[in-house]
Amino acid sequence: MNNEFTIEFISNSENERLARTLCSVFLLPLDPTLDELSEIKTAVSEAVTNAVIHGYKGGQGIIKFKGILCGDTVTYIISDFGQGIADIDKAREPLYSGSSDEERSGMGFSIMEAFTDEMVVESGVGEGTTVILKKRFGCDGR
Ligand code: ATP
Ligand code: MG
Repeated sequence: MNNEFTIEFISNSENERLARTLCSVFLLPLDPTLDELSEIKTAVSEAVTNAVIHGYKGGQGIIKFKGILCGDTVTYIISDFGQGIADIDKAREPLYSGSSDEERSGMGFSIMEAFTDEMVVESGVGEGTTVILKKRFGCDGR
């Protein structure tokens, strides 16, 4: 099964729900388990939340969300065009947060990594950030 979509939405935190819903409906043809669905939704929502609160720092910008279904693998690509990340390796470390907000635990990238098969982060300061999340379904032979 091959399929693809691209949408753009403004960096409103409400739109995290839109992305979660879209990502789960899109991969239904792969017959995911409830656990798998919840994992990929959580990973996508962490990436979108980062774009909203870090990429645009609560200001308004565009978030691009792309989904690609290829065979038994789904890929979601979340891009913002905001401030970017200076040190990607450091940002990916568990418990590292560049934010002084106490609500941020610095676990977003670790969660995305744990709940997917592959996570790629590309970023340029002043250019924005792209997160690529890849997950395979049906590995248990269902
Ligand atoms: P949590 O996700 O647990 O609430 P967090 O967002 O700080 O906390 P991560 O999601 O792991 O933790 O991100 C680590 C750090 O990487 C962020 O604190 C921020 O400094 C930087 N970062 C992540 N995504 C972006 C982005 N889209 N644009 C700019 N900086 C980002
Ligand atoms: Mg985060």
